[in-house]
Amino acid sequence: MALIVQKYGGTSVASAERIRAVAQKIKAFKETGDQLVVSVSAMSGETNRMTALAQTIQDTPSLREMDVLLTTGEQVTIALLTMALQQLGCDAISYTGSQVRIMTDSEHGKARIKSIDDHRIRQSLTQGKIVVVAGFQGVDEDGHITTLGRGGSDTTAMALAAALKADECQIYTDVDGVFTTDPRIEPNARKMNVVSYEEMLEMASLGSKVLQIRSVEFASKYKVPLRVLSSLIDNPVGTLITSEENIVEQALISGIVHNKDEAKLSLIGVPDEPGIAFKILSPISIANIEVDMIVQSVSAREGLTNFAFTVHRNDFKTASKILDCLCQELSAMIVQSDNKVVKVSLVGIGMRSHAGIATQMFEVLHNEGINIQMISTNEIKISVVIDEKYLELAVRSLHAVFELDKE
Ligand code: ADP
Ligand code: ASP
Ligand code: MG
Repeated sequence: MALIVQKYGGTSVASAERIRAVAQKIKAFKETGDQLVVSVSAMSGETNRMTALAQTIQDTPSLREMDVLLTTGEQVTIALLTMALQQLGCDAISYTGSQVRIMTDSEHGKARIKSIDDHRIRQSLTQGKIVVVAGFQGVDEDGHITTLGRGGSDTTAMALAAALKADECQIYTDVDGVFTTDPRIEPNARKMNVVSYEEMLEMASLGSKVLQIRSVEFASKYKVPLRVLSSLIDNPVGTLITSEENIVEQALISGIVHNKDEAKLSLIGVPDEPGIAFKILSPISIANIEVDMIVQSVSAREGLTNFAFTVHRNDFKTASKILDCLCQELSAMIVQSDNKVVKVSLVGIGMRSHAGIATQMFEVLHNEGINIQMISTNEIKISVVIDEKYLELAVRSLHAVFELDKE
């Protein structure tokens, strides 16, 4: 008997009808004799709706209260799904994150799972029950409710799979697997049958929304096979995310990832002297703002330099205010702030052994008249920051030139 952890995302449980359809699928799985633990997200749009609602009450609500609010979304779906299962004659039980002791640190809004007490889940499984666990939520040592960051139900499912030593973790969503790029941007995107943990980690960290990065970190650390597949079709095959050594043929480039959450800030004409990067970035880090790309360039004026970096768009306003203060303090010339930029990245393990991919990428963007504002590379990815109006054009032309639509 295998133990399978399944996760159903927001679109899969978006209405009572969808919830009933998911319950039918779960019932059919259960009839094959496997043990099942199911983790669910809130109904599609609910987390956004509650976030907007909170902002009508308070400009910047406390992160703790936001967690208390947002976790209700998943509490609704675990109850409804369990009722739908019981209605079909299945023995099922729902648990919130705190009931199964999904213990996290106290970083409200982006907490990390530290441990899961598998005792209660195992007890229910032994009784033959289907166990339905709320995604996205946990509890800290002092009993405060926490959330794992947007898309966090993926991580709940993977952490459960790791804690229970499951045979596979299946992430059900609205697309049948991981594609060469977001199929919403490029309809010719091709589904990949297998992807290595390493490439998936890179894709998730560069902003691919299909899996939350921490879920892939868990999968790769505990070597639990992870599959992404569609809940909207019959007999989905999906994409298996597994160790590199299990992959026979490795493509040069496996995917193109975009991230719309980027904002760029530049301080122009700061003194080119030791400690300048520290002076600019330390107030940013004290404000708990994560910095992604950093570029320091030589300015035309002697003794002066330009310093640019990117942050998440949610942190744009706060970071801009900090730079405005720094501009005076450091006698810089001006601050340039731009939250209409995106990051587009090419990812592929094959790039390790292949030079010239970056040049080819820059040529494609040049041919399309797209200006590159920032570049960063590592051995398996190349990222550029460009104006957001060129997002579709950049993704589609790179997809075509690198022939990602072909096997
Ligand atoms: P869920 O609510 O099920 O968690 P998400 O919206 O978080 O679903 O993730 C699924 C979405 O991820 C897809 O609808 C797709 O638009 C997007 N996506 C981005 N990049 C990719 C990719 N490379 N392959 C597949 N889907 C992708
Ligand atoms: N409901 C949460 C979100 O919308 C968690 C998830 O869906 O994974 O981000
Ligand atoms: Mg998601």
